[in-house]
Amino acid sequence: MRSYTARWVLPLDRPPLAGGVLTVSDDRVISIESYRSRPADDLGDVALLPGFVNAHTHLDLTGMAGLAPPSADFTSWLQRVIGHRRTRSTEQIHADIAAGIAQSLRFGTTLVGDISADGASWDPLAASPLRAFVFREILGLTTERAKAARATLDAWIDKRPVGRCRPGISPHAPYSVHVELYRAASACGLPVCTHVAESRDELELLADHRGAFVDFLKGVGGWNPEGLASSVAHVVGLLADRSAPVLLAHANYLPFDIQLGANVTVVYCPRTHAAFGHPAHPFLDFQARGVRVVLGTDSLASNPDLDILAEVRFLHQTRPEVPPETLLRMATDSESLGVPRDRADMVAVPVRDGDPYEAVIHSVGPRRVMIGGKWLSDSPPQGINVRA
Ligand SMILES: [Zn+2]
Repeated sequence: MRSYTARWVLPLDRPPLAGGVLTVSDDRVISIESYRSRPADDLGDVALLPGFVNAHTHLDLTGMAGLAPPSADFTSWLQRVIGHRRTRSTEQIHADIAAGIAQSLRFGTTLVGDISADGASWDPLAASPLRAFVFREILGLTTERAKAARATLDAWIDKRPVGRCRPGISPHAPYSVHVELYRAASACGLPVCTHVAESRDELELLADHRGAFVDFLKGVGGWNPEGLASSVAHVVGLLADRSAPVLLAHANYLPFDIQLGANVTVVYCPRTHAAFGHPAHPFLDFQARGVRVVLGTDSLASNPDLDILAEVRFLHQTRPEVPPETLLRMATDSESLGVPRDRADMVAVPVRDGDPYEAVIHSVGPRRVMIGGKWLSDSPPQGINVRA
């Protein structure tokens, strides 16, 4: 058992505690107190708060930084991502994943939901300190491709957790996944992450079997209108009947009054969303209806970096009406992935005077990162005083 105090302790589910004391035992936070009732390591002028959760990224695309700037032409952008994947060797993909993990840790991410095209991020994430869900991507709108993807799914569900790494499954998107594959993913019991209602083109495709996706799918040999779900509500409905977590990535055009179960979370990627030029995201409407909304960075194919705090900063600037503590809660919500909030995953962020939430948002980022009750570098942090 070990206790820490700091200029601020920010539990985020209750008011900030100046000089509060956080006590961890093994992998759990066992108490957060407002006063010094026990000896505690003093971390100094930092705010101690839950670690950042990046609920949606693709670490295997870290090598795409700057190569395919997003535009309103979504399917052209997708083509460039597919083209990039074809040119990447296994070694390059491993290097990209390693770079993504290093960047995530540097920015204070303690839990990541990574979509992995071929499962390649499993080993490096299992070997890293990060808490992680590896969502194995499955794709296939044609009957043959859906059948092959089904075999991939069946093999992946046998994956056992390794350390802090857990398996999940990711049916890619309603325009690329056979409706029966969505059904199988829902039934498999693993956490699910899917891109949904990302573009208007996707809604048009599902409703009328028309629009930009038709040529795109024909171009990649994946056109099969019989395999399409009838609407995004249909897809969400297929994923609703389960208890394991479901992450709906983007949901930019998802009707906010759609019925969503308590296990369903909307993942909003603010800077990527803005880069594609979509209208304002309905995250406040979802929240007003009790739907959990968390943050993601998406990949470097569409985002400048994997920094969740930068997403918070961006939202704080562009949506100043949202309270800073709401943004920080969205950035640190591990329960979206079924990880209890008492996990001892914390960041220590240097802060100065003033409102502690504002100070965190405008800080230079984490100085220290704790995952599973252990500081990533020297433990305990250097330069501390142990006081009774
Ligand atoms: Zn994505």
